[in-house]
Amino acid sequence: MASRPRVDTTKEIAQVILDPKTRKRYQRGKFLGKGGFARCYELVDPDTKEVLAGKIVSKALLVKQHQKEKMTQEITIHRELHHKHIVGFSSFFEDSENVYIVLELCRKRSLMELHKRRKAISEPETRYFLQHVLLGVKFLHERNIIHRDLKLGNLFLNDEMEVKIGDFGLATRVDYTGERKRTLCGTPNYIAPEILAKKGHSFEVDVWSIGCILYTLLVGRPPFETESLKETYTRIKKNEYSVPKTIGPLARNLIHRILQGDPARRPTVDQILHDDFMTMGYIPVRLPTSCLTMAPRFDTKMNVSIVARRPLVELNKESAPSGAAQKEVAPPPEPASEQRASRDCYLKVLHGQLKKLLDSSPANRAKIEMDEAEDPAAVPFLWFSKWVDYSDKYGLGYQLCDDSIGIIFNDSTKLMLLANGEDIHYIERDGTEHYYTMKDYPKETNKKVVLLKYFRNYMNEHLVKAGAAMKPREGDELSRIPSMRAWFRSRSAIVLHLTNGTLQINFFDDHSKVILCPMMGAVTYIDEKKSFRTYRFSLLEEFGCSEELANRLLYAKTMVERLLTSRSVSASATKAKVGSATATSAAATPSAAPPTH
Ligand code: ADP
Repeated sequence: MASRPRVDTTKEIAQVILDPKTRKRYQRGKFLGKGGFARCYELVDPDTKEVLAGKIVSKALLVKQHQKEKMTQEITIHRELHHKHIVGFSSFFEDSENVYIVLELCRKRSLMELHKRRKAISEPETRYFLQHVLLGVKFLHERNIIHRDLKLGNLFLNDEMEVKIGDFGLATRVDYTGERKRTLCGTPNYIAPEILAKKGHSFEVDVWSIGCILYTLLVGRPPFETESLKETYTRIKKNEYSVPKTIGPLARNLIHRILQGDPARRPTVDQILHDDFMTMGYIPVRLPTSCLTMAPRFDTKMNVSIVARRPLVELNKESAPSGAAQKEVAPPPEPASEQRASRDCYLKVLHGQLKKLLDSSPANRAKIEMDEAEDPAAVPFLWFSKWVDYSDKYGLGYQLCDDSIGIIFNDSTKLMLLANGEDIHYIERDGTEHYYTMKDYPKETNKKVVLLKYFRNYMNEHLVKAGAAMKPREGDELSRIPSMRAWFRSRSAIVLHLTNGTLQINFFDDHSKVILCPMMGAVTYIDEKKSFRTYRFSLLEEFGCSEELANRLLYAKTMVERLLTSRSVSASATKAKVGSATATSAAATPSAAPPTH
């Protein structure tokens, strides 16, 4: 990995990219990210107006013969594959500078980002993602293709939260039955023991990787992870791993069946699809996009209502009795270190990250553009787009960028109206969650729901919001979104902390904002001019950052310290105040806020 060339982003790629063969002119859009060789941008197809992903590889990087061959191999294999769970291959072409691969756009990134944000995920979610992966790999194996680098980062997600297997850079075709592959140019992430032992390998290496993926999704970390690659390889060769006690018996059994040193003893992809773990438990038909940051709700009522809407067979082909789903209401317990980190919603982790970055004096090495440090894959899933401080009477109301609305009341209870405008989540002081709807909620919450409506109307009428709303979609009924953990106003900013770890600071004077995410180790900076850019802490440390951002990060560190020492959930202000993601609302009058009772 370390020997990979660094992609040079300083070389500008043209705004319009011409396919010399078809004469098609693709409009280059948003930067999606860079990998070992490629830079990815959104590309708009001029004929269909469809937005696609363009993987652009500079020819200057493809110097060695084997690098060129790998690229050719990737294209040759990928272009023939058409399946729901394989990233769609649209076209490829080259000009004098670059090779271009035009692919289906996967806007929700990959399971890698989901894993970073969520760590261990629930069994129903794991089954859902694994089913997609298995169907995709079954298709590949039936066509004699071995992917050879199945890993979370190569399992992309579209807007529908469907898995799309991508990156065929290490893939190979099996030419005759029983062929054992002897060579592999590259280092797969979840490398199988028979590859390390150079014994010859085949389809079973993909099954091994699937076992590692299953383990990582459920446990929150990979099975053979150690401090060094050498030590990890030793463990793989010795088959040294353990499954935590918290993992259910069916999952444990499947993990042990797959992660066997002898490839011949591993199940096939089809056998995994029929394993008890996959067939005996609840598999959601769809998952909400909020799963990228929060565990969904698998409460009894929800399962009943889904079952009522769809036949059980369709919901969950070989479904277990509905009781099975009820048992899984709580997400799997986290390892001790994770529990400690999640108790303060990753504030200490964030503090450590900020301290490490600031100790490196990034501003002294300022490269004003900071392009090298940009990582769009770390864009926050949710941030605050509006707020109304009415804490002298009721509490703080806010809107998140998905159009959901929340209030944290002065009694520390919270009420949230989800983006569909229908589902209400009420959270008690002790964190107990209750799920209601606008049509159906208990009498005791009536006053709070009325206030929620007032806040909603007020914010809709008086505050301007940046960015488009997300469209509600099927699967959203399982949605849970983070709630406000704590907030306060200092003289120069409002500090807002969500339970998923996101910390946002809106500066009053120039309306600039920072959104910090400890899970991704990233900061999004919305400057005075409203430009919105996400940088990874580690890259800012490496490449330096502007003084402007460094100052805001320093301020953020102080605010994190304040949050760490204060026990109260909110620090109220003396007068009602408002704000929003855009600067235009600062003059809105507090008198239009919710009336007194
Ligand atoms: P590598 O060179 O390591 O194979 P990739 O080219 O796969 O890296 O990816 C580079 C970046 O582009 C990553 O951040 C990834 O999230 C993004 N990306 C790759 N393919 C797609 C796609 N089909 N849709 C959206 N983003 C993508």
